Amino acid sequence: MEEFDLIERIKRRFASVDGVHLSIGDDCAILEPGRFDLVTVDTMVEGVHFDRALSTPEDIGWKLLATNLSDIAAMGGAPGPCFLSLSLGPNTGEAFVEGLVAGMSEAAEALIPSGFESGVAGGDTTRTAGPTVLSLTLLGESSPTGPIRRSGALPGDRVVLIGAVGMAAAGLMILQEGLERDRDTPEAVWEAFIRAHRRPHACVLEGALMGHHGLANALIDVSDGLIQDLKHVLKASGAGARIQADRIAVDAAHRRLAFAQNIDLWSWLLAGGDDYALLGTVSPDRMVHIWQLAQEYNFHAVDIGEVRDPREGLSIWDGAGRKVELERWGYTHSFDADNDADTSATPSEGAP
Ligand code: ADP
Ligand code: MG
Repeated sequence: MEEFDLIERIKRRFASVDGVHLSIGDDCAILEPGRFDLVTVDTMVEGVHFDRALSTPEDIGWKLLATNLSDIAAMGGAPGPCFLSLSLGPNTGEAFVEGLVAGMSEAAEALIPSGFESGVAGGDTTRTAGPTVLSLTLLGESSPTGPIRRSGALPGDRVVLIGAVGMAAAGLMILQEGLERDRDTPEAVWEAFIRAHRRPHACVLEGALMGHHGLANALIDVSDGLIQDLKHVLKASGAGARIQADRIAVDAAHRRLAFAQNIDLWSWLLAGGDDYALLGTVSPDRMVHIWQLAQEYNFHAVDIGEVRDPREGLSIWDGAGRKVELERWGYTHSFDADNDADTSATPSEGAP
């Protein structure tokens, strides 16, 4: 198929996008002036970020948009138009691109609450002899209270986790190892693991609410693993933290799966990537507002600890008052806040 036919199909799927005066078809798109102040780019490389044996083109399109939506949410913003750059490898044709943009539409439909809108308003299309590379640029609009940066955490803030962690890591293991559901695990729970890998949730509404109500002093999305991303916040803010890891919600099936696969559950919860939860720091007097919003909008939020003086560094505790020994997983030297150690986790024995 011709490049122009492909572009035509993409154009038809995203006929009009809010905030865009001129969409696909000219040398540039024209945006509503002065509206979008946030920009994020995420790239997915075949063989690195996606595996076509484990995910359909629709799944890949969904994830491409979801990862970008998560970045806008992590600034407390609302999503706007996006721009799609395709470098298509030898075995990647029309059907792949059709699936990709269908998955993007489905993600937009499912993850973006009413009142906000995203859609493809332009892009670029090339052929390559190498692996397929997909890159999406998403614009966003910060709330009237301004973007929420990583650098605003203050000692005394509560550390709040919104959404689930360790799900995508479990899902990836199920798919890679071809695991079968055990009879104690409800089908819906098993499917949720797989879905977390293939079609992750992005906390679009939750992030926008944080921005709208000016609730968080610092906010980040958990894409590389909870502790790794927390460390980005602590480093940017010049702070330490004390994390009570047992506060993180874990389904019994999650625990069972980790045990059966000889995985330290902490490694999934604290170091598993690709879940796109949000991690914020919130001054204690605003926590009641978070609980109200969580109830009103039906999302999961949990207080997992406190921002501390930078001299305390980062410490992580289990329910029995023992320190979780992250150095055993390749986190060596990771206890001071301004050190970004390797995340490659070698799971230890002794699940939480
Ligand atoms: P130019 O050569 O001027 O860059 P292109 O042929 O690359 O023009 O693009 C023509 C139009 O098609 C532009 O509006 C561009 O944004 C759009 N476009 C190209 N590739 C894509 C894509 N993958 N997704 C969406 N729009 C695209
Ligand atoms: Mg071009």
